[in-house]
Amino acid sequence: MRYGEATVTVVDPRSYMTYQPFLPEAAAGNISPRHVVVPLRRVLPKAEVLTGRVTTIDQDRKVAAIAPLVGEAYELPFDYLVIAMGAVSRTFPIPGLAEQGIGMKGIEEAIGLRNHVLEQLDKADSTTDEEVRRKALTFVFVGGGFAGAETIGEVEDLARDAAKYYNNVSREDMRFILVDAADKILPEVGPKLGAYGKKHLESRGVEVYLSTSMDSCVDGHVVLKNGLEVDSSTIVWTAGVKPNPALSRFGLPLGPRGHVDTAATLQVQGTDYIWAAGDNAQVPDMIGRKNGNPNAWCPPNAQHALRQAKVLGDNVISGMRGFPQKEYSHANKGAVAGLGLHKGVAMIVMGKMKIKLKGRLAWYMHRAYHGMAMPTFNRKIRVFADWTLGMFLKREVVSLGAMETPREEFYEAAKPAPAPAAKAEESESAKAKAS
Ligand SMILES: Cc1cc2nc3c(=O)[nH]c(=O)nc-3n(C[C@H](O)[C@H](O)[C@H](O)COP(=O)(O)OP(=O)(O)OC[C@H]3O[C@@H](n4cnc5c(N)ncnc54)[C@H](O)[C@@H]3O)c2cc1C
Repeated sequence: MRYGEATVTVVDPRSYMTYQPFLPEAAAGNISPRHVVVPLRRVLPKAEVLTGRVTTIDQDRKVAAIAPLVGEAYELPFDYLVIAMGAVSRTFPIPGLAEQGIGMKGIEEAIGLRNHVLEQLDKADSTTDEEVRRKALTFVFVGGGFAGAETIGEVEDLARDAAKYYNNVSREDMRFILVDAADKILPEVGPKLGAYGKKHLESRGVEVYLSTSMDSCVDGHVVLKNGLEVDSSTIVWTAGVKPNPALSRFGLPLGPRGHVDTAATLQVQGTDYIWAAGDNAQVPDMIGRKNGNPNAWCPPNAQHALRQAKVLGDNVISGMRGFPQKEYSHANKGAVAGLGLHKGVAMIVMGKMKIKLKGRLAWYMHRAYHGMAMPTFNRKIRVFADWTLGMFLKREVVSLGAMETPREEFYEAAKPAPAPAAKAEESESAKAKAS
């Protein structure tokens, strides 16, 4: 657009965007968490960035209701609207899950998981209670898609690697469990590589239970449908995502699973001034449809989200200038998944050919693909620098769990000291005499 032609306002409750495919590597400490996020105000200097939440929209008046970080809600008028609010963890009413579960959708969770896992090793190393030790060294992951398989792969690698620094914890003392309701893991890379991924994790001592689910995890007591019961202090929930539930208040046409229903042009059905893309949109997969599947939809992944964004940007400008809209059509280029240092699976699609890779080569493909896809040159450099340093320096294994309550120690130091017992008694009796 020409300078001054429009005002672009970005509303997001976070002041940064997160490259989620790197969350497992951030949880393992291979990439610094700050390098996985991109500060919006710095990379969008010509846009207005509002840190807040869009709570609803009014299509008749063309205004969005904004709940800022602090203070009163207010309305923001718009001429054109883009909806890209992503997805949230899909959960079920499982007893104990809300209290015990750890999600894997944001950088805060990745940092929290890393601190939590290393803290469990600290606990296990220093306790004399065998039950506490067992619970601390048992790690349960529910959901074996990209997020779950990559996270367990990275965290298992980190934890077993860190064990060498502990006198009373060995690699073999840890128990890693991956549970999935489906009969395979990593469906994104196809059945053969998914089966390889499972076999690979099992060869590292991960117990993989398929076609089963978690019935409850009250106080960390995990009960699986297949009858297995274990106590675990770490229950990571990566059992899929669902479109942002805020969409249900927007009055837009939604698909059966709650996505905004869009045309192939990414325009929301029945509108010519609202577009949607990414995990919160139900976008027809034109290649799949051309190949005879009338119900083909783009799966929710970064590959589609990033490519849809480019088409969407052009279409908004075409909409403003009265030019025709372009359809989004993208052939699947494959999928790559990292399963810890030097381990991975990859499926690369080249025309009609599917190249399947596993092991170190697949891991290089994973890093090369995501390293290049990481938004902004600045972040690319930082991520590659982290990886390069990781080749020469040992992995950091410090738990900074106290970061979650940083004021606690200062509060203890600064709070008024209690009156010494003797003096307190004296003053009580003096008070009694005076009265
Ligand atoms: C652990 C993990 C690993 C993954 N690995 C891969 C992978 O290897 N390959 C791959 O292709 N995909 C992967 N994915 C999926 C991929 O990250 C997502 O498909 C992609 O991020 C979707 O982009 P998006 O812009 O639609 O949503 P998001 O990236 O989720 O962005 C949504 C934005 O909307 C904001 N928002 C939320 N609510 C509101 C509101 N009310 N008002 C305003 N803003 C709001 C959020 O703060 C966020 O910034 C992975 C996902 C996870 C969680």
